[in-house]
Amino acid sequence: MTSGGRDTPLAVKLKAKIRSEGPIGVDRFMAACLTDPEHGYYTRMPAIGAGGDFVTAPEISQVFGELIGLWCVVVWRQMGAPRTLNLVELGPGRGTMMRDALRAARLVPAFLDAVTVHLVDKNAALQDAQRQALAFSGVPVRFHGDVTDALAGESGVPEGATIVLANEFLDALPVAQFVFVDGHWRTRRVALDAETGAFRFAPDPNAAVAPEGLPASRAPREGDVIEVCEAYRTLAGDALHARAQRGALAALFIDYGHAATGFGDTLQGVEGQAHVSPFHAPGETDLSAQVDFERFARVCREAGLAADGPAPQAQFLGQLGIVERASRLMAQNPDKAGTVEAGVQRLMAPTGMGSRFLALGVRSPELPPLPGFQ
Ligand code: SAH
Repeated sequence: MTSGGRDTPLAVKLKAKIRSEGPIGVDRFMAACLTDPEHGYYTRMPAIGAGGDFVTAPEISQVFGELIGLWCVVVWRQMGAPRTLNLVELGPGRGTMMRDALRAARLVPAFLDAVTVHLVDKNAALQDAQRQALAFSGVPVRFHGDVTDALAGESGVPEGATIVLANEFLDALPVAQFVFVDGHWRTRRVALDAETGAFRFAPDPNAAVAPEGLPASRAPREGDVIEVCEAYRTLAGDALHARAQRGALAALFIDYGHAATGFGDTLQGVEGQAHVSPFHAPGETDLSAQVDFERFARVCREAGLAADGPAPQAQFLGQLGIVERASRLMAQNPDKAGTVEAGVQRLMAPTGMGSRFLALGVRSPELPPLPGFQ
């Protein structure tokens, strides 16, 4: 234990790297923490759910996934109800959202007949749980490990109409950070404290850089930090763009973040549902950064796609009829009414998930605006 956090196997590995090669970018540090092939948090067993590190919307209430399922049915109809549909989920975790979505979609058998589910997750250890969660549906399920390979590769998701779903996926993509020092932007790196050997942030002392897409709200001040996620460009420009060349594409991204690019260091660790320093236990705590929806939407538009929203989660779920759906569920299952109500309240909370989470629709430009964004 040092003042900087636990010396996990990944911390030891990264410190050795920094000692021999010098400080590393925040994006490289974050990527290692999450997806290092040996020690990454998501490569091992991420702890999603009530007893784990973090609880996501589908784990809070079944109504969330059910509404997403009905959203998919409406979008499929907007696409002209194609006979085959690729239903892709990025970062499906335990498969809870897809399970609830397919259950709700049983109302429309022609939809389920059309669907092949494609689950894209870095963590292959989750496949058993995902397979089990979806077994009831009878829908074919395929597994992929890499997003670009799955969406744009030869042996990935086949040609044809495609819906992509991603809840709490974008926040796991590594961000670079830049810090404003003496009138210039400098890359923020992870270095080692000369005395304690602990990780610490340090601006790159050498080159000044000109990060792209600065906040429009005001001029930068000394010490300001901004975050840039290069992976947005790969996702939009390579993967989603390629997908839209192979058939109608509609995608839904839900995550916590901001509607406009802003200043601020949002990189945070989460362990046991509490916030910790990013240096707390590299590889053993979740690390995420708030999603910059303005930047992601712009990158999608630059890739020739249309973007709808972002809309606050409460508004999006409200338009999809969360209140009606929850009321019906409560009437059908009076003994579960309290749980349903509490879950929906949490998803919709005006100063909580309802406003801190945003939904963004991305689509082939020839499709009409996606449901929930009117
Ligand atoms: N969508 C789920 C899980 C969110 S946690 C839910 O809402 O409950 C993030 C998920 O994304 C995990 O399953 C993790 O393994 C996966 N993931 C993180 N980074 C990834 C990447 N670069 N490529 C593919 N999957 C990734």
